[in-house]
Amino acid sequence: MVGETVTDSRIGGEKAFELFRQVLVKATVPIDHPRHLAFVPAAPTRAAILFDLVTSASSIHGAYWMEGAGGIFCENEAMKWLVSLTGMPEPAFGVFTSGGTAANLSAIVTAREKWRRDPKNINQKGLLITSIGAHSSIKAMAKVIDADVLLVESEDAMTQQALGRFYGNLSTTEQERVFAIVGTGGTTNAGIIDDLDGIADFCITHKIWFHVDAAYGGGALASKTVRHLFKGIEKADSVTIDPHKWLFSPYDCGAVIYKNPEEAKEAHAQEGSYLEIFKDEGAFGFNPSDYQIQLTEGLGVFHYGFLWRHTGLKNMNGPWNRGYNWPKWLGSSLRKTH
Ligand SMILES: *Cc1c(COP(=O)(O)O)cnc(C)c1O
Repeated sequence: MVGETVTDSRIGGEKAFELFRQVLVKATVPIDHPRHLAFVPAAPTRAAILFDLVTSASSIHGAYWMEGAGGIFCENEAMKWLVSLTGMPEPAFGVFTSGGTAANLSAIVTAREKWRRDPKNINQKGLLITSIGAHSSIKAMAKVIDADVLLVESEDAMTQQALGRFYGNLSTTEQERVFAIVGTGGTTNAGIIDDLDGIADFCITHKIWFHVDAAYGGGALASKTVRHLFKGIEKADSVTIDPHKWLFSPYDCGAVIYKNPEEAKEAHAQEGSYLEIFKDEGAFGFNPSDYQIQLTEGLGVFHYGFLWRHTGLKNMNGPWNRGYNWPKWLGSSLRKTH
């Protein structure tokens, strides 16, 4: 139907757009379609989409303050708000990423590097504990950093007790290899939130990094109705939240927040002769690329900053509650027709 598109003679803009409209886009499913009931939905606001267009057309990026200050300033304003939702105390801060997978990877690299700073762990393979309900990206990213993963069995939320029992059954050598425990703030399938408060206390007692993957569920932190279910998230060492899921941002927009951003900087800041200039006195500023795995990155979240300025924070509780009440309504309607 499409035929050859990459040819020696160009097909031209009009033909390309025609192909997109008539063939290619028809073979996709818009995730914000009202009848899209599968997978994690998206609901980008019109203002956010428009501004996405503006930032793309401006050819700016948000790796370094020297080049991207205006955009990064706006990202940071949005980030302040996101951090305030978690309740994490100062100096907690974060950066935007291409998604939840990149955020999870950035967080577990930071955790592993911190653990490796202890000389006895230098040649050790790290071990990460999470539950069977954890998102596939945790296991996939553990592979990327060559860490082992152990899964706590749990029908429902992972509790402090279940985690304690599991950890207690490990050998001392295994226990010493544990560099992070990952709790989930809303599992992808069922929205189950682990016992974040209990797991946080466990991690504090055992001096283990606590990461909360709230990629999907994190949006619900803005809803007064369900905020209490996330109690304990404020004690995490790092948190993943995806604005492109339940925070009305277009793709690609994830976020990682650290209790102590300096630890992330130690793990992620890149060095190279071509990057030296960004450390010059005159280039002083906040460089998002120091806190996650990616260097050049679109100012994706400029649009997100724009979104909440535009919408007004006061009005934000409504949309989340709507997202929360709608499936509840659907569930009870289905039960009635059964
Ligand atoms: C969606 C999701 C991810 C992965 O996020 P991407 O943005 O798709 O990379 C990670 N964790 C959880 C809990 C998720 O729901």
